[in-house]
Amino acid sequence: MPYPPLAQFIAGEMRRQRRQTRPVVNPATGDVLSKLPIASSGDVDDAAAAAAEAFPAWRTTSAYDRYRILRHAGELLRKRAADIGRATTQEQGKPVTEATAEVLAAADIFDWFAEEGRRAYGRIVPARRDDVRNMVLHQPVGPVAAFTPWNFPITIPARKLAAGLAAGCTVVFKPAEETPATGLALAHALADAGLPAGVLNVVMGEPAEISTQLIRDPRIRKVSFTGSTAVGREIAHLAAEGVKRVTLELGGHAPVLVFDDADIETAAAMAARSKFRNAGQICIAPTRFLVQEPVYERFTAALAEHVRALKVGNGLDEGTTMGPLAHERRPPAIAALVDDARDRGARVVVGGKPINGPGHFWQPTVLADVDHDARIMLEEPFGPVAISVPFTDLDDALVRANALPYGLASYAFTGSAATAHAIGERIEAGMLAVNHFMLTSPETPFGGVKESGYGSEGGSEGIEDYLVTKLVSEAW
Ligand code: NAD
Repeated sequence: MPYPPLAQFIAGEMRRQRRQTRPVVNPATGDVLSKLPIASSGDVDDAAAAAAEAFPAWRTTSAYDRYRILRHAGELLRKRAADIGRATTQEQGKPVTEATAEVLAAADIFDWFAEEGRRAYGRIVPARRDDVRNMVLHQPVGPVAAFTPWNFPITIPARKLAAGLAAGCTVVFKPAEETPATGLALAHALADAGLPAGVLNVVMGEPAEISTQLIRDPRIRKVSFTGSTAVGREIAHLAAEGVKRVTLELGGHAPVLVFDDADIETAAAMAARSKFRNAGQICIAPTRFLVQEPVYERFTAALAEHVRALKVGNGLDEGTTMGPLAHERRPPAIAALVDDARDRGARVVVGGKPINGPGHFWQPTVLADVDHDARIMLEEPFGPVAISVPFTDLDDALVRANALPYGLASYAFTGSAATAHAIGERIEAGMLAVNHFMLTSPETPFGGVKESGYGSEGGSEGIEDYLVTKLVSEAW
């Protein structure tokens, strides 16, 4: 199956003219897969115009008809999962089984938001006079600009596109320049499912140029971004100029609190699977393992044992359980953090080094006894590095867990309902999983607090970010 052709997708047309291009690289081999056409500012303007023009008809399309198109798109994604998954692995590196499962998860997200669109109810508020009716209407906010990263190139866009389209918004979508084919596959599925021209437009190229132009465009009424906290802050500044609504899903540095009454062996096995999925390049990846002193060495050794069994390689090869890092900037970034930790006395239990090329590989790594001021304790590693440090009691664990400006995912392992309850009350995070690692189903809220962002991208909350509230008070 060859790598799919790339183009801008504007007003229902694939725009193939090439002005400038940038290479799309297979991170497992270093080979150039294709040349990404860079959108001109005219392309971006046309995409915003198409979204604005398509909005009046799409917002008045019945919720039921929108539902049918989104469900159909979900079905097409399921049928195409193997091909799309392969393209994802080529451009992003994750094992093809993970990539294919991601396409199926995106289909589930379409199903969920298709249904939520039919349930975007308003309400009647009792009035103070019997000849007045107060109606609360929820209406689509308007054309949306959606910017997504390379780590989950189909589920992250699916959350934004499915929620926005179900609400009646039109969208200009910029996939990550590293993973354009996966982003386009989503647009193809929607177009083939009957989405009218202009309702979804895809532009690709230089991220800062495109996002700045779109966010400043008065026709765009809402912005949704997933990526780093640094870029999210820029996006929020730009959106503030036009007082535009924003959803930000940013960085995380998820703590995992492992108590001495937990099932340590099971926790370690689950932790290794979850931590090294997608080579650790996940905003909700469990990263800071805070382990109660009596079980600290046992947990760290068990985790390392599972990590040694990981099979690193090209995601297209059978048996690979961890692929490369997504692009050439990642290995030096990880190296800087690991070297700093080592210099400050961290113990490298397993891994700790890049793997020689071709490709951008890093050894699955477990660091123990890491200094609390080491950079890797403070900055999101976004790679295959687990950090293990001891704590004394619940209060100590919570102080350490809450010490960072991040507040996205968090995890705890304990046999005590009281401990689980206390953590649920006191952890500063948008999400907490106790005794497991699953936080990403379409039907549950997904989002962070503090500098991890705001807004929610799942559950019934997920569609709310794309709806505005209007009061209509009628007297007769
Ligand atoms: P990066 O910030 O250069 O790029 C990350 C993504 O953000 C890319 O897909 C890029 O297209 C997009 N982006 C960058 N600048 C943008 C802008 N001005 N407007 C719109 N989109 C923009 O970083 P990187 O080296 O590729 O990745 C490393 C860091 O990015 C990680 O440390 C992590 O914090 C963050 N990241 C977070 C997520 C997430 O799911 N929250 C996903 C990927 C990367």
